[in-house]
Amino acid sequence: MTIITCNCGKLEVHFATTKPLFRLICCCNDCNAILHWAAWKNGRTFYPAFQGIDKIYLENSLKVAKGEENLRWVKITPNSVCLRGVATCCYASLFVENLSILGPKIVCVDVDYCKVRGAEACEVTAQIFEKDVPSNRKNAVCEGFKGPRFEEGPEETPMWPSVIPTIVNAQSNELIVPDGFGSIRDIIEKSVKSYGWIELEDYNDNGDPPIVLAGSN
Ligand SMILES: [Zn+2]
Ligand SMILES: [Zn+2]
Repeated sequence: MTIITCNCGKLEVHFATTKPLFRLICCCNDCNAILHWAAWKNGRTFYPAFQGIDKIYLENSLKVAKGEENLRWVKITPNSVCLRGVATCCYASLFVENLSILGPKIVCVDVDYCKVRGAEACEVTAQIFEKDVPSNRKNAVCEGFKGPRFEEGPEETPMWPSVIPTIVNAQSNELIVPDGFGSIRDIIEKSVKSYGWIELEDYNDNGDPPIVLAGSN
């Protein structure tokens, strides 16, 4: 089992597996904008903006063990299909559902923005940048984002297309869901039914400090 907790420990989620399917360093706008927002909400500094976000990807078989009332789901815009689970007790970012890119069997975990115990070590599979997102998937990660875009990486790295076979392979694995575990979709639906979404668009529009990404001015 892999145990994921928010930074203050009130929210705890268990994944059935301990073995990551793959690991990406993501520099996309969704990750950067939402993590910037979460840091601001909690009075932390998110530095540097547009840093690569370290992520592991686990089979979609999990359960909320405690603190479910602290879990909320964030959309960067109302139409966004990339959904991020944050803990509003401490504004940790725990995980992401992205059906458009990952499909229904894979959940992304923001390992640097929450606490992860029990997962096996995994080499970085690829580092991905905005420009590497396939054109037919652009809407999945950055539709509607108003801020500057990070079109290029600072250095030569393995690119997004090279990881696609790994993702496709992981999508075709048989998903084993033990008793007591379920899908992240069920967790999202339950939470949103009770508490609604957090939409980052509101954050831009309501007179609060805008998303200003370091290095953008
Ligand atoms: Zn917390
Ligand atoms: Zn990202």
